[in-house]
Amino acid sequence: MRLASILLLLCAFSAPARGIAPSDCWSLRKHGQNMEAHGCFESMTRSADAYLRAEGFWGLEQWEEANQQFRLATQGANSKALYKVRWGMLLHERFNDSEAADLFREALAADPSNAHAYIGLASVSAESFSGKASAYAIKAIELDPKLAEPHELLADLALANDDRETAAAEADKAIALESDALDAMAIHAALELIGDRSPDAWLGKIHAINPSAGEPYARVAHQLELHYRFQNSVTYYRKAIQADPRLWAAHSALGIALMRLGEEQEPLKQLEMSYENGYRDAATVNSLRLIDSYKNFVTIRDESTILKLNKTESDLLLPYLQSELHTILSTYESKYHMKLPGPVQVEVYPDHEDFAVRTMGMPGLGALGVTFGQVVAMDSPSARKPGDFNWGSTLWHEMSHAFILTATNFRVPRWFTEGLAVHEEGERSPEWKSQPTPEILAAIRDKKLLPVTRLDRGFVYPDYPTQVFVSYFQAGSICDFIKTKWNDDKLLDMVHSYAQLKTTPQVIQGDLGLTSEEFDKQYLAWINEKYGKEAASFDQWREQLKALVAAAKRNDNDTVLQGGQAAIAMYPEYVGNANPYELIADAAKAKGDVKTEAAALTAYIHEGGQMPALLKRLASLQESAGQRVESAATLARLNYVYPVKDEELHRKLGDLLYAQKQYDGAIREYNALVHSNPVDKAGAEFSLAQAYLGAGKKEKAQESVLAALETAPGYRPAQKLLLELQGPSPKTN
Ligand SMILES: [Zn+2]
Repeated sequence: MRLASILLLLCAFSAPARGIAPSDCWSLRKHGQNMEAHGCFESMTRSADAYLRAEGFWGLEQWEEANQQFRLATQGANSKALYKVRWGMLLHERFNDSEAADLFREALAADPSNAHAYIGLASVSAESFSGKASAYAIKAIELDPKLAEPHELLADLALANDDRETAAAEADKAIALESDALDAMAIHAALELIGDRSPDAWLGKIHAINPSAGEPYARVAHQLELHYRFQNSVTYYRKAIQADPRLWAAHSALGIALMRLGEEQEPLKQLEMSYENGYRDAATVNSLRLIDSYKNFVTIRDESTILKLNKTESDLLLPYLQSELHTILSTYESKYHMKLPGPVQVEVYPDHEDFAVRTMGMPGLGALGVTFGQVVAMDSPSARKPGDFNWGSTLWHEMSHAFILTATNFRVPRWFTEGLAVHEEGERSPEWKSQPTPEILAAIRDKKLLPVTRLDRGFVYPDYPTQVFVSYFQAGSICDFIKTKWNDDKLLDMVHSYAQLKTTPQVIQGDLGLTSEEFDKQYLAWINEKYGKEAASFDQWREQLKALVAAAKRNDNDTVLQGGQAAIAMYPEYVGNANPYELIADAAKAKGDVKTEAAALTAYIHEGGQMPALLKRLASLQESAGQRVESAATLARLNYVYPVKDEELHRKLGDLLYAQKQYDGAIREYNALVHSNPVDKAGAEFSLAQAYLGAGKKEKAQESVLAALETAPGYRPAQKLLLELQGPSPKTN
């Protein structure tokens, strides 16, 4: 301590050393000579050159002063492009990626061959999981082949895509250019850990270069997270903090990683510490907000599940979620021949932003659900537009991850666990099967599907914007293919092989008896058989659909009815906007042809269509036609889509089930009705009482009837039912 203050004092009084360059100070810091680095930066803050002052303040973590000096430095007409690049990097470091990107572009406008500006753009793109990041890094290398940094970036991106060969090769290139390339060493350490080998040699090198460097450990931790190794990642964030207790980014990341594991106390401590020390990126701020919002949640436990639901909707959603979760657990337990080691925790967020925070830093931010081992976080149906989201299929998907991650001890490639999860949705219900969207058909037509051994690369840093969706579909259909050509057992064998740390080529050879290349060939032939024709005639279909929409607009119902079936034959899975099923149903309705209308809507739901208005319309048609069982089944589908804010749905379905003497179902629906803020609360309680009575649950019936009378004391049918319930029990002899 004393030595430090003497040095600082000396620095404070000495004039800035002549010719001192920022790189001198960075080098000192990189090698752990922090006191010397501090003095070096401090002396730069007294330079006559605004740019050097900016670097000095930045080095001292005086962000605002640095920002001001950069503003000055970039004002002159002769200001170098470099200054804007460095200013951009400062802003990138201080959570302002959009202005950072602007500065990099301005720098490139002034100096198109500025490699560092491309590194900046690559860093900003990487932050948002944009596939452009690699292209920018490659551009930087073309412009300046001596730079190690873009190689480190490429190594990091490649490993995030689980392209381990490229990751290792790029890390090696970085080290060849700069023997102290710490980030490249961190990638090597991560590669060892992900491959279940010892990282010690690489960690030892990092330590020897700079024992107080925390960032390399944080980089390792982030890669571990991306490879589902959530517990390990916590260990490495802790190492990062141990090496550099002031690395607030790592404190924040540790807090978030612990939150993902279901903890609350330590995350709060870590996140608050980061926040108080000025590390206030969106993830930190929003995670703190999320922890604060937990007070609005209730936790409901039973022997195998823990549900965290928002208080405003827990009474309504709990029965549906809990019972579905039990069905899922028993199905997967017998299917995968295993049990989860403890209760599974499912968190359901009515505010999509909260959910996005929950998953922050993970690829696929807009994903419907996301699984961290035995904690599943997902959107509530109320977080989404009605019809956009099926919580049931999402829960089956996420729970498959919980089982597969457990079964493989978190050692499974992304494509396989995603593929199985998508496959399981379709196994649960053909209507929940992943269907080829227009983008997916286009990818099939343009031969953009990836070889199975490289499929992981389509998930994290995609080559083209829709590749993530295409990759989910492809992975799911690969599992469908394996089940069709072989059987379910083969999928389970593959799970076990991945648990034994086998690679995808080994798994395919060992379990399916094929080389990966032969497997790709057979799969592509199969997928072409299924969708090749659709994909090839896609443009024609689109023209046909346009013509149909135009005909519908001019109320040319006959043309819609004739052309609609042809459009469906070309691409039956399309249930999106302006789908032919709906167009046909409308045309049939206009002509008073109820049968055709109902048939079109039935075909629509069988292809996975789930817009609430269309489902309700079909249910009414079915009811009018005396098909009460079918009508109830149609409405029951809607419970998986949008069971919230819809008292009409629950009343109608409750009535249908009650009339069919399905009292348990009626109880579930009337209970949902009671918790939907119905206009007629007393009527809802009374219906519930009747359903309880039907099920022989007299005490519950009495509770509900009393609740009805509490709302409406003069409600005659309720009074009558109460008297009946309280009357003498019938004599048995
Ligand atoms: Zn998934």
